[in-house]
Order: sequence, then C-alpha cells, then structure tokens
Amino acid sequence: MSFKSLGLTESLVKAVNHQGYDTPTSIQVKSIPPVLEGKDVLASAQTGTGKTAGFTLPLLQLLSQKQPLRKRPVRALILTPTRELAAQVHQNVKDYGKFLDLRSTVIFGGVSQKSQVSTLRNGVDVLIATPGRLIDLNNQGLLSLKHIEILVLDEADRMLDMGFLRDIKKIMGLIPKQRQTLLFSATFSKDIRKLANEFLNNPVSVESTPENTTVEAIKQKAYRVAKAKKTDLLIKLISEGDWEQVLVFTRTKHGANKLVKKLEAAKIGAAPIHGNKSQTARTKALAGFKNGSIKVLVATDIASRGLDIPLLPHVVNFELPNVSEDYVHRIGRTGRAGASGLAISLVSADETVFLRDIEKLIGEKIPKEVLEGFEPDPNASTKPFNPQQRRQKSRRKSK
Ligand code: AMP
Repeated sequence: MSFKSLGLTESLVKAVNHQGYDTPTSIQVKSIPPVLEGKDVLASAQTGTGKTAGFTLPLLQLLSQKQPLRKRPVRALILTPTRELAAQVHQNVKDYGKFLDLRSTVIFGGVSQKSQVSTLRNGVDVLIATPGRLIDLNNQGLLSLKHIEILVLDEADRMLDMGFLRDIKKIMGLIPKQRQTLLFSATFSKDIRKLANEFLNNPVSVESTPENTTVEAIKQKAYRVAKAKKTDLLIKLISEGDWEQVLVFTRTKHGANKLVKKLEAAKIGAAPIHGNKSQTARTKALAGFKNGSIKVLVATDIASRGLDIPLLPHVVNFELPNVSEDYVHRIGRTGRAGASGLAISLVSADETVFLRDIEKLIGEKIPKEVLEGFEPDPNASTKPFNPQQRRQKSRRKSK
C-alpha cells in the first residue's frame, strides 16, 4: 500500500517520503480517504499510530486545491490540549506542506502574543492552537474564525480531562456551522461521544490497529471463480468460515439486490444498502447489521461511503470495482484493533484486468486461489464487462 493509492497528490507524497515514510499506517489508510472526500471523521487513535499525518496530509491537500482567499484568513484550525502537542503538530504541518503554497502558524499561552499576532496579521491558512490563547486573541479582536472550513480536535479526550469543554463549546460558536470536523481521541468515553454527537455531522468512524500499524494488517486474497458460482462460493465461505458478519461489495445496485435475495433464500440474513434505498431503509439495514440480526450487508461503493459501518474482520468484493481506488476504500473497512482483517475478492475471467489494475495501484500482488468445485470457467472471455468503463477516471454517478 502506498500514500499515492490513498489519493494524495504528488507534492504530499514527496513530502511524506522526505520524512522517510513510504507505507501508510493503519490509521492513515483509514482516515485519509474519507477526509479527502470531505467527510467528518471520528477517529480512535493513540499517539504513535501516525494519527497526525492521518489528518494533516488530507487537510493540506483540501486546502491546496482551493484558491486562498484575499487576506488569507484562517481556513483550517487544529486544536490541541497542550503547547507541546501544538508545536509538534505545527512541525508536521510544515514538514508535510513544504511543497505547497500554504502558510501555517501556532499559537499557545505562556509566551508573549506579539509575534503570534503579527504572523496572523500577514495571513495564515492553517492555525494550530491551544483553546485558551485562541479565545484570548479572538476576544481581543485579533483573530477571525469566520472562514474556517476544517476543524480538527486532536487528543480530544485529553482536552476534556484538562477541563477544556467550555472553551471548545465557545470556539464552536465562533466558527461556521458549515465545515468539516475531524475528532481524534485515544479513548471513546461517554463525554467524547456526546461531543461527537453534538458537533460532528454524520461522521465516518475509524480506528487504528495498534498492534499492527500498517495496512499489512489487512490480509488480501483473491479466488478465481466462474461468474455463475460466485454466490455459492460466498455462501460456502460464510458458513464454513463461521463468519459472524461480513460486508460485501457489488458493483451495481441491481447486483446488490439480486445477491441479497439469493442469500436470504439460503437462510442467511442479508440487506442491501445503495443509492436507490430510502434513508429509512438504509438506517434500518444499518441498525440491523449493528445489532447482529443481519449477517451480510451488501453495499455499492458510493452508498458505503460515509456510512458509520463498524470495522469488520471480513470484507468481500463480490465483484471488483472498475475504479481501482475504490478497492482501497473497500478494504479499509476491515481490520480491528489488535486483530488482522481479511479482504477477499471473487474474481471472474472478465475481471482479470481490474485485478491487474488494482495490483498496480497498491504496488503488491494479491495471492490467488482456486477452490475445488468453484473453478473459473475455462471458456469465459477475459474481456472486461464494459471496456468503455474500464479506465474511467471520474466517479460514477449512477450508483
Ligand atoms: P503520531 O501518532 O502522529 O504522533 O506519530 C508517531 C510517529 O510516527 C511520528 O514520529 C511520526 O513522524 C511517525 N510516522 C507518521 N507516519 C508514519 C508512517 N507512515 N510510517 C512510519 N512512521 C510514521
């Protein structure tokens, strides 16, 4: 897995490589794609997991893709509990942003505000701050928070422990409601959840896998199989593997519906989740999945984005995506704290090219297997199902 495959631009990949890193950590794999998509993210990650780059890299990318406003008001605010952490995060912002035309600064208490104020006056895009000094400067009219587009609460649990809740709430009142919010916390106490409920909008939940900090924690495997045997193979894998729950991806809405019907006929509780389903139906499917009454959730790529689906031990690609980046999003759904996840792909002859494209993107070969009784069809064509769609770059709107 590479930083490029997560959707980061060359300038950022180069900067991160300059720091000596070429493999993203688990929290980076999980948080970078949804942040790039503009989603709110609720992340559970301790120090040492690479969490800072997990929010800094996509944040810098989003800012660099837009023209800075005249006078350069602050567009991204990163709140940290301590000065030390603020300084450390600022160093990361400088390191990762060194090939971008973005300005950043850090403000915290205990030192003279003079130089902090003059840097702010010259305009900065990213501000890293501790809550006290931020409110102080705002009260003095020396800082405007009206143009904030992205807010990061780093080590939110520590901020609450240190009694910053009132300050956080006050700051929330000073920045636009229309914004992207990222909350990083080592633990998820009741208070953190309350904070997230109040200030995050339909967040994607991600968690790092502390014992295995890279995406290598996700085991990948592909079964070559005849198209007509895919459903039976999936049923076999679910029942013989004793899987409790699995998220299955199909390429189309119709495919998702069809698969759910077949799974139900085999007495396996399943529900589809895709763009044609009403919000109520989606919420119901998701609730059923979360409470365990539904074993298999069958999703299309677009529908699965932004859904608060818990991380699962197994993810199955019933069909490979024709946009390789979607593969990375999909497999990022597996892997749980401390346990490794398994991402299985069922590949028919006409998907061979997609598999090759994916391997090229992730920079590794996916181990392939054939199961007895589920062999690929020797007469099937290896031509992709729709050649026009194959190297399609733009996201499909139809799903
Ligand atoms: P953090 O959890 O953000 O405090 O990061 C912990 C340490 O991991 C810092 O020294 C980072 O520079 C380092 N780090 C960040 N990303 C990576 C990576 N992809 N591979 C190895 N180390 C990293």
